Amino acid sequence: MFHIFLLLSLCIGLEAATCPEIVSRAQWGARNVKSSGAMALPVSHVFIHHTAGVTCNNKDTCSRVARQIQNYHIDTRKWADIGYSFLVGGDGRIYEGRGWKAVGAHTYGYNSKAIGLSFMGNFEKVASSAAMLKAARNLIDCGVEKKFISASRQIHGHRDAKCTACPGAALYTIIQKWVGFKGGKLPGYSC
Ligand SMILES: [Zn+2]
Repeated sequence: MFHIFLLLSLCIGLEAATCPEIVSRAQWGARNVKSSGAMALPVSHVFIHHTAGVTCNNKDTCSRVARQIQNYHIDTRKWADIGYSFLVGGDGRIYEGRGWKAVGAHTYGYNSKAIGLSFMGNFEKVASSAAMLKAARNLIDCGVEKKFISASRQIHGHRDAKCTACPGAALYTIIQKWVGFKGGKLPGYSC
């Protein structure tokens, strides 16, 4: 009996193997703003960021932090919407930003060809939790599976494109071990 269950779960698993739970904009209470231009898919790059702000550990607090970040990006930075494609909550959930298809505002020079994934919190000195890392890696795998991200994609930290501490030294050390990671100063690196 156990083997049948195992087989069944493996078969079901093949269908939607890696996609993590994504909290939709409606679910976290995003402001309904005009969407930006569409990216040509699949994109070739993924940039990892941190928000350098507070973290959160459940759907309510992570939703509130997402709303605060969206407000800041729209009202203070004067961007059309929250800049990131997705956020990683401290609760291990993914929060939808501009999503897979829209051009973001996260990495100067690369916004039209990259997914920008931002870890909620400050990861300069403290490593992000295993749950956050798993969610992020699953999201990237999910994007590849759904052909939003190229299978030969390159993964970078924000600091590879600009002189910034983002995504924090502790997180940057971790993503350097991920398949497809490419560090160093990228073409167009700016200060
Ligand atoms: Zn960044």
